[in-house]
Amino acid sequence: MDTQELAKRILNGERRALARAITLVESGRADHRAQAVALLDELAGHKRQALRIGLSGTPGVGKSTFIESFGMMLTAQGLRVAVLAVDPSSARTGGSILGDKTRMERLSRDPNAFIRPSPSQTEMGGVARRTRDAVALCEAAGFDIVLIETVGVGQSETVVAQMSDLFILLLAPAGGDELQGVKRGIMEMADIILVNKADGDLKPTAIRTCADYAGALRLLRKRPQDPEFFPKALTVSALEEDGLAKAWEEMQTLTGWRREHGHFDACRAQQARHWFEEEVRLGLLARLEKDPQMRAQLAELGQTVAAGQASVSGAAADMLRRLGAG
Ligand code: GDP
Repeated sequence: MDTQELAKRILNGERRALARAITLVESGRADHRAQAVALLDELAGHKRQALRIGLSGTPGVGKSTFIESFGMMLTAQGLRVAVLAVDPSSARTGGSILGDKTRMERLSRDPNAFIRPSPSQTEMGGVARRTRDAVALCEAAGFDIVLIETVGVGQSETVVAQMSDLFILLLAPAGGDELQGVKRGIMEMADIILVNKADGDLKPTAIRTCADYAGALRLLRKRPQDPEFFPKALTVSALEEDGLAKAWEEMQTLTGWRREHGHFDACRAQQARHWFEEEVRLGLLARLEKDPQMRAQLAELGQTVAAGQASVSGAAADMLRRLGAG
C-alpha cells in the first residue's frame, strides 16, 4: 500500500491502517523510516486534535485498572480513546513492565478504543520518537483522547510530560513518610494527582494521603498557566470506578481554562519545537555513530582524555571542530 492510500485510510479512522502505520514508525529500517516520514508529512495538514493525557505511576499502583475503567467511561460517552505506552524497562532488560497482553482486556475489545503496547528493545530516544509519531497518527485517525502511560522510573515521566497536554500522577495510599518518596520534580510536573485504591479498608488511608499531597502541592510554586486550585489531588478507586467522573471533570476544567487563556496552544508549540530540536540532536548523534571515521576519532580522542593527555573540554572542542560543528 502506498503512503497516500495509507494516509487516506488513517484519516478514515481504519484501525488496521493505524496499527500498520504505528508498526512503520516503530521500525528501525532506513527505508521504513523514509516511508514513515512521508506518511507523517502527508498527514500533517489535518486539523484534528486529541486531548493528550500522560499518566504515570509505579508498578502495582493500578495504572492498567485505571486506564481500563477510565477508558470505558469515556468510550461510553461516545469518545474514542487510544492508549499508548512508554516503557523504559525494555531498553535495559528486554522485558517490559507495561507490555503484558492480558492488561485492559475489556477496553481492548471496545470498538471505540485502541491499545498499543510499548515496543521492546528500544532506547529512550527511540521510544520517545515512536510514541510521538504514534500520537500524531492517533490524532489523524480521529481519536478524541490519547492516553500515554508510563512507569514512574527514570526519565520516562519527563518524556511523557513533554508530549502531553495534561500530566496525571497515579499514587497509592501510603503512610506519611512515604510521601517523601515522590520526587519533587515529578510532583511539579503533575497537573492532577490521583490517589488510587480509595476503597474498602484502604479508603481512610487514601483520604489522608490525598490531603498530604494536596498540602504538598500547595507548597509548590503556582504555575501561570493554571487556574486557582490547580494542580490538585483527588482520591479515586479504579476498581470500584469511583471518583473517575470527578477526575475527568477536573481534567476538562483545567484544559478548558488553558485553551481559553492561550496556554494550551502555547504549550503545544513549545513541545513541537522541543521535539524538533531533539530529533535533530538525535540525528546528529546517529550520524556520528554510523560514520566509521568519526567513530574512530571519537575513540581516539576518548583515549587521550582517559590517559590524561587532554582535558575533557579541550578534546570535546577538538571533536566538534572535526565534525565541522565547533
Ligand atoms: P499497574 O501495574 O500500575 O498497571 O497496576 P494494576 O492495574 O495491574 O493493579 C495492580 C493491583 O492493584 C491489582 O491487583 C489490581 O486489582 C489492584 N488495584 C488496582 N486499582 C485498584 C483500586 O482502585 N482499588 C483496589 N483495592 N485495588 C486496585
